[in-house]
Amino acid sequence: MIRERAYPVDPWHIRETRLDLDVLAQSESVFALANGHIGLRGNLDEGEPHGLPGTYLNSFYELRPLPYAEAGYGFPESGQTMVNVTNAKLMRLLVDDEPFDVRYGELRSHERTLDLRAGTLERIVEWVSPSGQAIRVRTVRMVSFTHRAIVAFLYEVEPLDASARLILQSELVANEQLPATSKDPRVAAVLDHPLQAEEMLEQRTGGLLVHRTKASDLRMAAAMEHVVETPGKHAVTTEGHPDWLRTTVACKLEPGQKLRVVKIAAYGWSSNRSLPAVRDQVGAALASARLDGWEGLVEAQREYLDAFWDHSDVKVEGDPEVQQAVRFGLFHTLQAGARAEQRPIGSKGLSGPGYDGHTFWDAETFVLPALTYTQPAAAADVLRWRHSTLDLARERAQTLGLQGAAFPWRTIRGQECSAYWPAGTAGFHIGADIADAVRRYVSATGDFDFERDYGLELLVETARLWRSLGHHDRHGRFHIDGVTGPDEYTAVVDDNVYTNLMAQQNMFAAADAAKRHPELARKLGVDDEESASWRDAAASVHIPYDRELGVHQQSEGFTRLAEWDFENTPPEAYPLLLNYPYFDLYRKQVVKQADLVMAMYLRGDAFTPEEKARNFAYYDARTVRDSSLSACIQAVMAAEVGFLELAHDYLGEAALMDLHDLHQNARDGVHVASLAGSWIALVAGLGGMRDFNGQLSFAPRLPSRINALEFSLLWRGLRLRVEVTADEVTYSLRNGGGSARLDLLHHGKEVTITQVKPVVLPIPPAPPTGPAPSQPAGRAPVRRATGG
Ligand code: BGC
Repeated sequence: MIRERAYPVDPWHIRETRLDLDVLAQSESVFALANGHIGLRGNLDEGEPHGLPGTYLNSFYELRPLPYAEAGYGFPESGQTMVNVTNAKLMRLLVDDEPFDVRYGELRSHERTLDLRAGTLERIVEWVSPSGQAIRVRTVRMVSFTHRAIVAFLYEVEPLDASARLILQSELVANEQLPATSKDPRVAAVLDHPLQAEEMLEQRTGGLLVHRTKASDLRMAAAMEHVVETPGKHAVTTEGHPDWLRTTVACKLEPGQKLRVVKIAAYGWSSNRSLPAVRDQVGAALASARLDGWEGLVEAQREYLDAFWDHSDVKVEGDPEVQQAVRFGLFHTLQAGARAEQRPIGSKGLSGPGYDGHTFWDAETFVLPALTYTQPAAAADVLRWRHSTLDLARERAQTLGLQGAAFPWRTIRGQECSAYWPAGTAGFHIGADIADAVRRYVSATGDFDFERDYGLELLVETARLWRSLGHHDRHGRFHIDGVTGPDEYTAVVDDNVYTNLMAQQNMFAAADAAKRHPELARKLGVDDEESASWRDAAASVHIPYDRELGVHQQSEGFTRLAEWDFENTPPEAYPLLLNYPYFDLYRKQVVKQADLVMAMYLRGDAFTPEEKARNFAYYDARTVRDSSLSACIQAVMAAEVGFLELAHDYLGEAALMDLHDLHQNARDGVHVASLAGSWIALVAGLGGMRDFNGQLSFAPRLPSRINALEFSLLWRGLRLRVEVTADEVTYSLRNGGGSARLDLLHHGKEVTITQVKPVVLPIPPAPPTGPAPSQPAGRAPVRRATGG
């Protein structure tokens, strides 16, 4: 586990001041760079030692069989695993013939800094070789946001005390050997030699490798090119092999002289294009990046990020650790989605192989909210990708004997890849989550062209699924039985409230959209009768409630299940899924992650304030947060029901998930949903932002230690800034001109914001609350007000 404060608190940097080999794999995830298309783990330049080497291309995967001891009808037969593609990060250095390796000689200093505004990872090392030669190495790397296919590296090395002979070997390596995997279901399957060589081209200062996967039949190319600057004599050569390519720079330097090498590498892949086409594509990308050169790439990266931070930054005063973590989270959210361009966003982004690189509801429900209000084009692209998989989802629905589209619980390409049916196929709520993301995007942007071209069909096909999955009982109530909600410690249940309320919204949204686009709806086969059947089902959705306890039941019968014995569950038994059989978890009141609490956030319009308060207390006492998707949502609802300090605690947990390695699996990649979730915890939690039925509303209130919060949102093209202090809120419009106006609710009161002048409003006194909610024994979040 990364020790607390391993990274000094700093508003814009994540700095590691010494190298700790015990947490190398975790730091590789923290320092991963990506642009949504290419991802590089923060491996050391010289490749060794490493935790987990990793270079990824979004949606570049290999198929593997899913073996079952006992197979059943409709079980997915094939899995998809993200491939560790050709590594362009490798730059090995030899100092007077001795390999620069931090495990040998003396490491005088080692510092790595992720600069959130520059979008670069810098490393500065002073090392003395075993034979006593002292050198200083500075490397900077980036995955370009502006050149989607490009990664670039700067390598500088100088001898400190005596003249030295330096050999730098800069490589492209395919089919790297990967460390063996564990039994933890959250890690990835290891593929043996997934890449078959197709072409190798060597030139003096670089070259190219083309490979192909065996079963998924995808082709990828990686090319590199170097610019070498050094005083005096030096030699540059390149040699190759089908699986590697090596450019070698040899020189001899005096103290004070420097070798400076810029390496630019390009990646491309395709499922259709020919070898020459893919080869030419990376050649063109390289040529275009060379035109800018290192300085140009660095400058463009900063400009891109300046604009991003201007639109998306969240300022938190009073808790600098959370401030840093939230920016780190926003940076990784951007890295996961910025240039995904009609590809999925995996639950680890492109920072590690965890969960095989699959996308889950994490993308639509946790990442897209942050992107929708800050980078709407990236959000639309993810939904366009979902739309492109509709045929597969329709096929899956057919296999399951259902109508409409059954989207996969986890996938890369669109096919269901979950081999565990109760937590996979049964997680039908993914359809409603996609529909919710469509609804949110259209409502926030007013992009009705998107709704017409993509949104409508997604809404219609998911509504069809609900209509066929559920049924009306003899009293007319609509039930959805045998499904799994967000809480994966309760599976295959009837009338999960989250699922039912989200399906309700899905069916209403489909009927409304069909009304807005009647001709297109007709083309999709929607007639008045079908729309009416959606409205009818939605209006009569059953919501289980326990009258005696005065709380909702997460699903039918949940509140009468046996209680989990939290008192006798030792801390090391968490996460419970690794230490108890599912059969036991399923029949007890133990909640893995926000489920009913999630419903109260996304469908807050369906609960009264009193219900929210009672439900929150009941479920918080039974939620163990074994999923990283929980804390951010608990933060939102804790704030809404008046427990601001607890909201702050949960916010801290969501934001620090990876910087503190709270779930002890940051090695497999960062938890993008939790990181994006820290935006949700701040904006929807402390800012109280909601968008029910197209009405933007805020109810900001701060916990004691946070004295100011500031964020910006895009709402129908208008840029709204919200600045919150302990007793007042300032709303201002940052664009739109004199006639622009934005209507919103502030603590339930209608307000109009124009560009003429900011509107300053008091925060009304908080209503009284009951006793503070408690958590399962040993599972309370770290208290932020006291720092303990
Ligand atoms: C959670 C899911 C989540 C998945 C990927 C699981 O542990 O229960 O809700 O989608 O991880 O992050």
